[in-house]
Amino acid sequence: MIDHCCPAMASHANGHCDQHTDPFDCPDALIAFSAEPPEYGLIIHDGGTSIIGIHFCPWCGRRLPEARQE
Ligand SMILES: [Zn+2]
Ligand SMILES: [Zn+2]
Repeated sequence: MIDHCCPAMASHANGHCDQHTDPFDCPDALIAFSAEPPEYGLIIHDGGTSIIGIHFCPWCGRRLPEARQE
């Protein structure tokens, strides 16, 4: 399992809702996380699967791991 920057991020990135298998269907889901490559996004609940990529944790402010560029 991936180490997230803080417990708040860990609970959102790993969070599983009893009522929604797809985080995009869950109004409580804030964070979409994919492990390969490491990528964090804010879920936009517009009925689709839009996310906004984030580079810093909204809770602790630490820089998030991301896929290497260059
Ligand atoms: Zn839910
Ligand atoms: Zn954090």
